[in-house]
Amino acid sequence: MRHLYVHVPFCQRRCSYCDFSIAVRKRIPAREYVDAVLQELKLLGTTDPGRKPGETEEVGLETLYLGGGTPSLLPAEAITMLLHELALRFRIPHSAFRTDVEVTLEANPEDVTLEHATAWRHAGINRVSLGAQSFDDRVLKWMHRSHDASRIGDAVQTLRAAGFDNISLDLIFALPSELERDWARDLDLAGDLLPAHLSLYGLTVEERTPLARWISRGATSAADDERYAEEYLLAHGRLADRGYHFYEVSNAARDGRRSRHNSAYWSGRAYLGLGPAAHSFDGRVRRWNRSAWESYRRALSAGLPAVEAEEVLTEEQRELESLYLALRTDAGVPLAALGRPSPPCAALWVERGWAEVREERLACTPEGWLRLDALIRDLTGVGRES
Ligand code: SF4
Repeated sequence: MRHLYVHVPFCQRRCSYCDFSIAVRKRIPAREYVDAVLQELKLLGTTDPGRKPGETEEVGLETLYLGGGTPSLLPAEAITMLLHELALRFRIPHSAFRTDVEVTLEANPEDVTLEHATAWRHAGINRVSLGAQSFDDRVLKWMHRSHDASRIGDAVQTLRAAGFDNISLDLIFALPSELERDWARDLDLAGDLLPAHLSLYGLTVEERTPLARWISRGATSAADDERYAEEYLLAHGRLADRGYHFYEVSNAARDGRRSRHNSAYWSGRAYLGLGPAAHSFDGRVRRWNRSAWESYRRALSAGLPAVEAEEVLTEEQRELESLYLALRTDAGVPLAALGRPSPPCAALWVERGWAEVREERLACTPEGWLRLDALIRDLTGVGRES
């Protein structure tokens, strides 16, 4: 396992659209959390899950991602302790976190102070993904975010002052029309900060969220497909002008600063997930942990595994998944993998501008990414109504 994800479930409040597995806490139980994660790693049966019995050469990590939740709510000492222990258990020199391993921390802008950022840098974090979401205070309030727009620029400057040059911003588009959110302005303000990377997510309405309740009582409505597509394509045009390249359906990078961690997911590589609700995948079996923090913590303190369930993917499922993941990326799929001759729908997509053939690979255009599910159905028949 060269890719490690650690889920930090704590948030100070729930955002209006969020259905993630989180634990809303005023006081973050940092010590209990770090102990539980290290106990989970210990129970996995070896001090190094990437090493086979008898193997002696160094087995390193390539990427480590602290996601959430809000990992930046963990006190800096807890992050330092966690990274120190992980370096020991994966038997990599701690200095590798500053050089060879991509180590990402998801952070909310209000948690970024010079003191915190400096401590994160010393702990080994070398990439920060900031949950910016919008530069409009009204919109941030509607989202129940705890920062205001001015904090985003401050956070980016502070991170740079602490030595971070690999900064990503998350933005959400396709918001309800009554918010009158100026998406072009938000894209420009994000671009002005020159982040290395941007992740853009279309708002989706998940059950049991405040947003779903507002919609069910008619207080607001989701963006229609037309506006979703308009905003998505606007982002492609606007960001391309600033030198960003969309290397995945929702992710754009400058100067080759792709997320190595997420790229590992999209290329079907094995990864280990620790923490409540974290998923792991070894190329054949997907496992997921108990999602509620308390249940996760109790299980581990009783010496029980954190895993709640697993599924073994059939060969057909693995092929479908790898096709789907490949078409999410700019690399696309080798034509040879689609069979000879290529299925007629592939030529049709190219004709309609939904895909391109480059170096014997079929890759989606932005218009194709908007229709990705339908394209996969065309190609495989899976999900098509009989
Ligand atoms: S900060 Fe992120 S994880 Fe926490 S409630 Fe908001 S969207 Fe969900």
